Amino acid sequence: MLLEVRDLHVEFRTRDGVAKAVNGVSYAVDEGETLAVLGESGSGKSVTAQAVMGILDTPPGRITGGQILFEGRDLLRLKEEERRRIRGADMAMIFQDALSALNPVVSVGDQLGEMFVVHRGMSKKDARARAVELMERVRIPGAAQRVRDYPHQFSGGMRQRIMIAMALALEPALVIADEPTTALDVTVQAQVMDLLAELQREYRMGLILITHDLGVVADVADRIAVMYAGRIVESAPVRDLYKAPAHPYTRGLLDSIPRLDQKGQELYAIKGLPPNLMNIPPGCAFHPRCPMAQDVCRTDEPALYAVSPARGSACHFWRECLHGPEQ
Ligand code: SF4
Ligand code: MG
Repeated sequence: MLLEVRDLHVEFRTRDGVAKAVNGVSYAVDEGETLAVLGESGSGKSVTAQAVMGILDTPPGRITGGQILFEGRDLLRLKEEERRRIRGADMAMIFQDALSALNPVVSVGDQLGEMFVVHRGMSKKDARARAVELMERVRIPGAAQRVRDYPHQFSGGMRQRIMIAMALALEPALVIADEPTTALDVTVQAQVMDLLAELQREYRMGLILITHDLGVVADVADRIAVMYAGRIVESAPVRDLYKAPAHPYTRGLLDSIPRLDQKGQELYAIKGLPPNLMNIPPGCAFHPRCPMAQDVCRTDEPALYAVSPARGSACHFWRECLHGPEQ
């Protein structure tokens, strides 16, 4: 297995108390596989990714338990220097906002080229040539000229392509993309997502795709992990999940995707708000919003039940959910 997160716990200490951001998350991604991690903001999906990347180990965020195995080695036991080496060469992250992730005063060619100078010991001239190749690879028109331009001179979609090129420059085994298309127009979103999926297949990398939008992952993900209040509430192969969700929260998310065959119908949106992480409801954290909640849900926290060997649901009533509402 390329990456295995086991029973991860992360807390944030604030003036008002301890926010339990990640509460026992386990997931795995293999070489050549795409895992979509889905959830509303505050569900812990980004925080888990930051823990994997090793960019969280500064206060107020604190890993309080668990393991992060990368190619079999527990990253949480490595020295920072070793961590930094892995972060540079073996795993990379694509952020939502390229404008703040890229250096505004360095040309994109120099930023891309520097990866090859620093990590591959290339000459500046060779590195520049590789930078142009990469920009062509992510389909930036006129790459040979545009390599001298600065980030602000590109459109949002083109900047996101440049960030993808940066992430892939050293051909890392694992890429984490955190809402990579959220800031873009819908048509540009689809183009960037297609490009990312194509490159993922070509490079056979493990990809973790973090999103709040179930609509964007259907065609690109192999598996989906749905997060709520810092836990995984459903984990399933993407086709199984779309066919029949085994958790009421997933069902709510699916019912909120606009569908062509339901034009004009009002979309279902999950009522209420995600919980305050300093005060997560007892029992099933989703119970205040769940249309299927029973008394037991208010007191007993559901385990991640095995729906099938490849699938889990943290709902006491996953069977009822899977078979759909009585109609
Ligand atoms: Fe809803 Fe209960 Fe299942 Fe939680 S355990 S998702 S409250 S039915
Ligand atoms: Mg986020």
